[in-house]
Amino acid sequence: MAGVGGVPMDQREGWIWFDGKLVPWQDAKIHVLTHGLHYASSVFEGQRAYGGEVFKLHQHSERLIFSGSLLDMPIPYTADQLDAAARQVLEANKLTDAYMRPVAWRGSEEISVPARNNKVHVAIAAWVWPSYFSPEERQKGIRMMWSKWKRPSPETIPSAAKAAGLYMICTLSKHAAMDAGYADALMLDYRGLVAEATGANVFFIKGREIHTPTPDCFLNGITRQTVIELARARGYNLIERHIKPEELANFDECFVTGTAAEVTPVGEIGEFRFTPGPVTADLIEAYSEAVQPKRSAAAAE
Ligand code: PMP
Repeated sequence: MAGVGGVPMDQREGWIWFDGKLVPWQDAKIHVLTHGLHYASSVFEGQRAYGGEVFKLHQHSERLIFSGSLLDMPIPYTADQLDAAARQVLEANKLTDAYMRPVAWRGSEEISVPARNNKVHVAIAAWVWPSYFSPEERQKGIRMMWSKWKRPSPETIPSAAKAAGLYMICTLSKHAAMDAGYADALMLDYRGLVAEATGANVFFIKGREIHTPTPDCFLNGITRQTVIELARARGYNLIERHIKPEELANFDECFVTGTAAEVTPVGEIGEFRFTPGPVTADLIEAYSEAVQPKRSAAAAE
């Protein structure tokens, strides 16, 4: 992840929640013999605050705990405690609109494959991160290429976890895409079906039908679930199914969804072309309304 405003991520000012208390940003350090670094015993979240409230905060906290459990790595906090910690981080850093990164990892007590004696640590940082893709890219629709890497079978890796190890091929795919002048890459899965982008889920549109791949070997994003609800509430026919890459020729619009990416139109995936249109625009608007904090009428006065 690029440093924000050119400042490296370890040299910023502010407060990071680290194992139960706030520490100065630059003191939030770990040892080189950390299990999480050597063996990928690490899970994380990406969540966004809008107007002072983290969108779907409790769901993100629960997903962190769930990801930890899939890695046999119990997170030593409840979802309520993680919610409170996230709020504390926003307040300490005087942030209202921010991206937040909770992360949990195995510590440095022992360094070999078994890790039950390694303490599970948790940290939460937050910073201002406006858009994952540039405004120009968003307007025209981002250009994506196919990744050469495939999302693995759920029998190969716990693919429902938001786990560090699952991002190795995302970084490789994103590097290859950027080197070739593309904004991102779309991955197929181990069966050759359309899966997801390197940090976002994907949707395809034909008329009032919206198709999205079934998340049976990749992250079922919280933004994805939100957009599905919003689309159904707006009367679109939302279809979750296995999608073959050659079917992309049948769709008019395409967008990707994620906490960082929000709803981002796609103009191009490999040999296929899409034109950002009314359905994408409608759902961008619906999502940006949904993320705003719901204040009671009395509180708004
Ligand atoms: N897939 C991957 C690989 C991701 O990194 C993300 C971002 N967390 C998503 C999908 C979308 O997930 P969410 O909407 O929960 O942010």
